[in-house]
Amino acid sequence: MAADPVTTTAPAPGAEYADTASAAYRAALQVIESVEPRIAAATRKELADQRDSLKLIASENYASPATLLTMGTWLSDKYAEGTIGHRFYAGCQNVDTVESVAAEHARELFGSPYAYAQPHSGIDANLVAFWAILATRIEAPELAAQGAKHVNDLSEADWEKLRNKLGNQRLLGMSLDAGGHLTHGFRPNISGKMFHQRSYGTDPETGLLDYDALAAAAREFKPLIIVGGYSAYPRRINFAKMREIADEVGATLMVDMAHFAGLVAGKVFTGDEDPVPHAHVTTTTTHKSLRGPRGGLVLATEEYAPAVDKGCPMVLGGPLSHVMAAKAVALAEARQPAFQTYAQRVADNAKALADGFLKRGARLVTGGTDNHIVLLDVTSFGLTGRQAESALLDSGVVTNRNSIPADPNGAWYTSGIRFGTPALTTRGFGAADFDRVAELVVDVLTNTSPEGTSKAKYKLADGTAQRVHAAAAELLEANPLYPGLTL
Ligand code: PLP
Repeated sequence: MAADPVTTTAPAPGAEYADTASAAYRAALQVIESVEPRIAAATRKELADQRDSLKLIASENYASPATLLTMGTWLSDKYAEGTIGHRFYAGCQNVDTVESVAAEHARELFGSPYAYAQPHSGIDANLVAFWAILATRIEAPELAAQGAKHVNDLSEADWEKLRNKLGNQRLLGMSLDAGGHLTHGFRPNISGKMFHQRSYGTDPETGLLDYDALAAAAREFKPLIIVGGYSAYPRRINFAKMREIADEVGATLMVDMAHFAGLVAGKVFTGDEDPVPHAHVTTTTTHKSLRGPRGGLVLATEEYAPAVDKGCPMVLGGPLSHVMAAKAVALAEARQPAFQTYAQRVADNAKALADGFLKRGARLVTGGTDNHIVLLDVTSFGLTGRQAESALLDSGVVTNRNSIPADPNGAWYTSGIRFGTPALTTRGFGAADFDRVAELVVDVLTNTSPEGTSKAKYKLADGTAQRVHAAAAELLEANPLYPGLTL
């Protein structure tokens, strides 16, 4: 299978494009080398390492040369706090263009009335969303009740009352061990401190999201915000159902689609599975399945848009204009029909990987997948997640350990390995390749044993790492990363 055309040949197909990109990178590295050779060397080495590793980390991908090149410009040099057409600095006309184009692509791609392209990352996008929901639902009505336009117009006593109210709100999000993210109300995270938090989980038998239990928790807890979305749940979510639950209890539905934004953009998740028409506020990263630069986005209804638009400087530092420009390029790529083909292949490949595990007797959380994630329970191999992750890495398979529901080994050692298909699908891997990946993973894990009672130490049977490395190298060679790009 040829490498994905979106990544390797857009916008101008053919070897000529690879030559142009090669020339650009060679020149850039030469310039960098003249100032700090160690950075040029590390940059070169990173490409070699990425080319040589079987990257199965569910949150990573490979952005296109066009997206990557867009980040290396003088747009980085401009301060542009504020929002489009309303900046706290002079001379922001080009940043206005950049941000407008990025937001326009995001609105069109996701069918959202409003998009905010400034968040520097997914966590920043979530913080902007929290702030915007508090500002819209709590602060604005309180100001109106006091006949004030601005918080600075409030008396000290009224301001203190409002601060207490803002700090006394409730958030219901998916628990970490069911696959939720730290920012969905995990106590040690700022989200668990900003809000009184409670978590919903998954059914202990099936591992699937239990909507009845979620509805019961929402009725009892009456949160201001229900957060949908996940980092490690291998299934689709019915966001129409979540919105019904939110409406019933008067909650704002916020969906963090950081992981599966590419599947939404690529129209694999549609109807009830597309969060954008159902959520009041949708947040995402741009660098995971969406395959853009590192960064975040917030989409919102007209009701929440004015507050989201004040994200900088109320929550965020000055916008990274060079990254917003790269978001615009990546979003333009995601609007091409080829991206829909890519997204469907991401989901098909996850299924092939899951089937490959199941037919070799492995146990998967929820028994399979219908998104881009496969969560393998490694206790059936007698291992902890930590041991499995290390043994796989020794064999050239890059993954991350992950908690599973009611994890007996806790959040550090864990009992799971999370696999994701977005990155290798970008390289061109197909279903047969992912079946082979499952075979290699099972080979490593069946040849790994714990050392004594340690949850970290392990023994890998002689010859396993070499055998798997060689097989992985064959797969990687057949599906090259950035073919034709030479430094
Ligand atoms: N939200 C979810 C669901 C995630 O999985 C992640 C990252 O893994 C984030 C937010 C945070 O993204 P970032 O690392 O860009 O802040």
